[in-house]
Amino acid sequence: MLAGEHPREMISAETMFTFIKFVCEKKENAAKRLLESNKFRIIVNANPNGRIQVEKGDYCKRSNLNDVDINRNWDYFFGKEITLFEENSGKSAFSEIETTFIRDAIKEFNAKLFLTMHSGTLALFHPYAYLTEEGRKFYIKLLIELKIILKINIF
Ligand SMILES: [Zn+2]
Repeated sequence: MLAGEHPREMISAETMFTFIKFVCEKKENAAKRLLESNKFRIIVNANPNGRIQVEKGDYCKRSNLNDVDINRNWDYFFGKEITLFEENSGKSAFSEIETTFIRDAIKEFNAKLFLTMHSGTLALFHPYAYLTEEGRKFYIKLLIELKIILKINIF
């Protein structure tokens, strides 16, 4: 699970802290079930230098210190479908230290599901159709748990 790629979306990192607190306190059965049947690797703040700039007053900062949007620095669709001036993909896929760190963390963990948290709209986006059947089942289960935990109407 990943949050904070876009530093101006401060609520995503804060929401991740809330999720961690919920799970670690184990006060509710949903938290206990999550820990019993899953392993998590969580990056709360994927763009710490960008976050520092936001906290210093650059409230609209979306990029890292190289002005690269690290959410556009992946090898999938690299450099394509760029619609905003601030969606700079970088020199090449994984040219940024933040993105290579995240990529390596995912590979090392052998993740079955990758969830990246963003904010700015009232929506929960998910990959189009890239999940295996096992991943799809896990994703549905996770959404149900998130619905309970966050007390929100996901679907
Ligand atoms: Zn974002």
